[in-house]
Amino acid sequence: MTVPTMVDSHCHLDMEQFDTDRAAVLKRAGAQGVRRIVNPGIDLAHSRRAIELAERHPQVYAAVGIHPNSSGDFNERALTQLAALAEHPKVVAIGEIGLDYHWDLVSPQEQARAFRGQLELAAETGLPVIIHNRNASADVAQILGEWTASERTRSSPLAQRELWGVLHAFSGDAALALAAMDWQFTLGLGGALTFKNARSLHKLASQLCLDRLMLETDAPWLTPHPMRGKRNEPANAALVAQRLAELLAATVEEVAARTTAVACALFGIDAGELPAPADGLPLTADILSESTPQPRESATSYG
Ligand SMILES: [Zn+2]
Repeated sequence: MTVPTMVDSHCHLDMEQFDTDRAAVLKRAGAQGVRRIVNPGIDLAHSRRAIELAERHPQVYAAVGIHPNSSGDFNERALTQLAALAEHPKVVAIGEIGLDYHWDLVSPQEQARAFRGQLELAAETGLPVIIHNRNASADVAQILGEWTASERTRSSPLAQRELWGVLHAFSGDAALALAAMDWQFTLGLGGALTFKNARSLHKLASQLCLDRLMLETDAPWLTPHPMRGKRNEPANAALVAQRLAELLAATVEEVAARTTAVACALFGIDAGELPAPADGLPLTADILSESTPQPRESATSYG
């Protein structure tokens, strides 16, 4: 039995939660068909780690960026270092960047300054952006609306692209989804889609166009049903694909093929030279039987 190829468009594989079994995690992902993984950065150190993993593993790509919850010490020097990291051939995006008003770790003004600075870097490098938004939809929409409008009037490298970014872990409303289409953005759907009580997200997802959607896990966080309570991992992108297929009345194969095409277009990666899938059963049963470490509460402010 062959499993369709999928891309986990947002996975923090560099986190210490994977230090003891990263090779096994990648093998299980391959067995589920997850043969491309994009590892976003949350600060400079983690952006470097993401690049190191991308150098070591052909199926892993990196994004570099400073998460809003780490943006308190954002400055010109940090931006210069990010720009240097962004030149690495396996860096495919700037991210994750954005606004987080849930954790309230950094003032909104400082978050916005880091966000705008990194959007500017993306425009200049021509790399798409991975956007984190938590309880900040109005301000994220204002900043992205202004930025995309102004980029369209210039001929920056990013303006040449068909797709400019992703609203990751999308859980917003229809208005934000429509705005994202207008900005030439995609939406990343993850574990939240599988939660039984996420009815408004289910309803919205059922109306979305597959050609602007990507699968993601946000591992090690946001574990999908029925694995909640365990550490999340990229193999679980297959569970998100299953739920999305149900909601759209599509087949898993169609969801996998079209979300993979979106991810490859957005990140400029090639699905044609994927490494051979790892050995193993393409079933979730072998993941269910694994005992994985519990998620650490201290690190959940990223995601
Ligand atoms: Zn994340």
